[in-house]
Amino acid sequence: MNFQEIKEQENKYILHTYGRVDAALVKGKNARAWDSEGKEYIDFTSGIGVNALGYCDPEWTEAVAAQAGKIQHMCNYYYCPENTALAEELSKASGMAKSFFCNSGAEANECAIKIARKYGEKRGAYHIITLKNSFHGRTLTTLAATGQDGFHQDFLPLTEGFLYADGDDLDSVKELMDSSVCAVLVETVQGEGGVVPIEKEYLQKLRKLCDERDVLLLVDEVQTGIGRTGNFFSFQGCEVTPDVVTAAKGVAGGLPMGVCLVSERLGDILGPGMQGSTFGGNPIASAGARVVVRRVSDPAFLKNVREKGAYLKERLEALPQVESVRGRGMMLGVKLKKGDAHEALVSCAKQGLLILTAKELVRFLPPLTITKEEMDEGLAIFSQVLNTL
Ligand SMILES: *Cc1c(COP(=O)(O)O)cnc(C)c1O
Repeated sequence: MNFQEIKEQENKYILHTYGRVDAALVKGKNARAWDSEGKEYIDFTSGIGVNALGYCDPEWTEAVAAQAGKIQHMCNYYYCPENTALAEELSKASGMAKSFFCNSGAEANECAIKIARKYGEKRGAYHIITLKNSFHGRTLTTLAATGQDGFHQDFLPLTEGFLYADGDDLDSVKELMDSSVCAVLVETVQGEGGVVPIEKEYLQKLRKLCDERDVLLLVDEVQTGIGRTGNFFSFQGCEVTPDVVTAAKGVAGGLPMGVCLVSERLGDILGPGMQGSTFGGNPIASAGARVVVRRVSDPAFLKNVREKGAYLKERLEALPQVESVRGRGMMLGVKLKKGDAHEALVSCAKQGLLILTAKELVRFLPPLTITKEEMDEGLAIFSQVLNTL
């Protein structure tokens, strides 16, 4: 099928929930992708931070294929050794105690929210404070947790029990934190909100406040986790220990997986029958995730992510058309002096570079394994495109 046929098929048979760009991707290798017409692209998206090891990393591909040929799925009545091994590896990489496995970021956050509700249940505390401008998912409850009205309209009423505080003002959290509050849920860098880093000091003070009030600190690392910011989890770079952490996007390197990790003291908070997921902890996704976790948790790999992120940031800041660059590690938002971010995205795709946007910023989430040559090639295209805006 050629691109035009694919596009017609999509328009006829798929709900129009995405504003797509004119390219159908059919194969990839590390940070390079090819479309249905054979055109080559440099990829600064990794599928919104999913393909942590790039497209079709050989070790990852082999582990996934081998597992598909052994046992692809089993029901959760039985033990799954690929999944138990992954849980231990995640625990060692994160310092958290135990995991619950599901299939997406929204589901991982749903689990975190259920844990918070359970924690507060005895004393009747059920409110969860989230930040304005946050993003936590598309299910009705995680949409309610998302502190942006634009996502709420059209779908009311949402799950009740969420309060929204200002991200840059701890007093705003303090004012909301009465005895009805069981948890605070935050991202460490707001991704969809426009790559807005939450300051380390803010998180540390928030941790202290939560401790004083017996309130849980839930950290949504769906976008920032699994090496993206140059630490295995971003909270590790902020020297804050959360009670609950959620991950998804990059964790299985391109297969659907979400995970909700809890600290030691919450290890027994959920009992049999309280939470579940048919596909959660699936052996194929677990086999892929084990390769990702082993590779990404290596301190040398993380150092390399920080170095490449710094290089990318420096090169972007040096472009005359760029107003500013913010973010952490390989999660970067670029504010342009002129031209709109979406227009830049469309032009970049035409010129052979895949990028993302976040609010009015251009957003880069390249595969963590991107090479310097691939970065330079992508930067050259980006700079050229900016001249035409
Ligand atoms: C993407 C994202 C989610 C939602 O993840 P899905 O897998 O799309 O459900 C939740 N939180 C953050 C911070 C995200 O970036």
